[in-house]
Amino acid sequence: MTTRNGLFGWYFGTSLLLRIIVALVAGVVVGIGLTFGSPEVAKQFVSSTAFFGDVFIRLLKMIVVPVIAFSLITGAAGITPSRLGRVGIWVLFYYIVTSAVSVVLGLGFAALTNPGAGMNIIGSAAAVAKSASAPSMITILLNVVPTNIFESLAKGDILPIIFFAMVFGIALSYAKDSSDKAVARGAEMLFDITSAAAEVMYKIVGGIMQYAPIGVFVLISSVFAQQGPKAVGPLLLTTLTFYAALVVLLIVGYGLLLGAFGLNIVTFLKGAREAMITAFVTRSSNGTLPVSLRVCEENLGVPRSIASFSLPLGATINMNGTAIYLGICAVFISNAVGMPLNFNQQIMVVMTATLAAIGTAGVPGSGAIMLLMVLDSVGLKIDAGSAAAAAYAMILGIDALLDMGRTWINVTGDIMVSAVVAKQEGELDATVWQQQPARA
Ligand code: ASP
Repeated sequence: MTTRNGLFGWYFGTSLLLRIIVALVAGVVVGIGLTFGSPEVAKQFVSSTAFFGDVFIRLLKMIVVPVIAFSLITGAAGITPSRLGRVGIWVLFYYIVTSAVSVVLGLGFAALTNPGAGMNIIGSAAAVAKSASAPSMITILLNVVPTNIFESLAKGDILPIIFFAMVFGIALSYAKDSSDKAVARGAEMLFDITSAAAEVMYKIVGGIMQYAPIGVFVLISSVFAQQGPKAVGPLLLTTLTFYAALVVLLIVGYGLLLGAFGLNIVTFLKGAREAMITAFVTRSSNGTLPVSLRVCEENLGVPRSIASFSLPLGATINMNGTAIYLGICAVFISNAVGMPLNFNQQIMVVMTATLAAIGTAGVPGSGAIMLLMVLDSVGLKIDAGSAAAAAYAMILGIDALLDMGRTWINVTGDIMVSAVVAKQEGELDATVWQQQPARA
């Protein structure tokens, strides 16, 4: 009993990130080690541990729809219609445009380095490499609007669910503002319930993440037992491609946008530094919110009226780092299973990943959950034992490292848009930006 308590105490007492990294390294070592022994032993290891990896993937799939639905409903309903004036529209505009640009940037970087190409991963079950028939653009757009939301929920169709959740959330925010007291009261109650439900989903994601080290160990050791040391290169390339794209977005993308408003990127980075570091280590936009709010107001001169609206909204819907990640990982996985994305599928990824990034909750690991949906939209089903599941498992293995980077940029993007909109509205306190020439 004491030992059990001790083991549990040790497990939960150690930082999750550390546990995941240890699991990753141990998985790589054990997996590669197995390739030196008898192939029978390696096969036996893979089949007898598969259960623990499959449980992890199933848990992630389980939580996809509820997380998107509740997170988006609360995010959209949190926008008070009366505040959704000029500032709100601009904030939303920048959030959506920067997300779409980020996915394209991710796909562009992936096209340069082609991560996963030539790997030819075969699943432990029969390889399921069915080529997706690419629907036309009109069909893609039409399919965003559900004809039956319950059918979409049951089937886990991401685009219609996101569309409906946003429409529902916006309608709920109007209902909260209703002059009819009974309607307003009911809507407030419904809002409280959906907010609480969103929190419950975040707790479940947090719980699933506690299992992540075990899942990561099993998945990664199986991948390396089957692939051998040659899997290290593609994963490293994916990570490097991803971080290169993040840095380019930060320096060039954000730098240009800030510059267009006469704001200096260096001053910006200095001011936002604390929130950026917090995001990197906590891997949670929501968790970083108090720090983002403070740096925005104190270091960057964004008035509270704007920051208190744009940052919580951004932590829910603006995920530029996640958008880049979704693009690059979709390319990696499709390449790895020998089904590189065609042009139509890439367009599909831009659309789905933009919306999936909007639907990503600001908690650790949720981007990896959304990746499932993006893959699904281009015909890559993550079924136990499939080649796509093995490739997805490789990403899951390094997900903590990618999550740090994406959260870092997610939060920086929120702060950047807050500063830009404040400047655009003439409400930015110029004294903190003294270093660069002020523009009217
Ligand atoms: N962890 C990220 C965030 O909180 C979301 C993600 O997993 O992509 O911003």
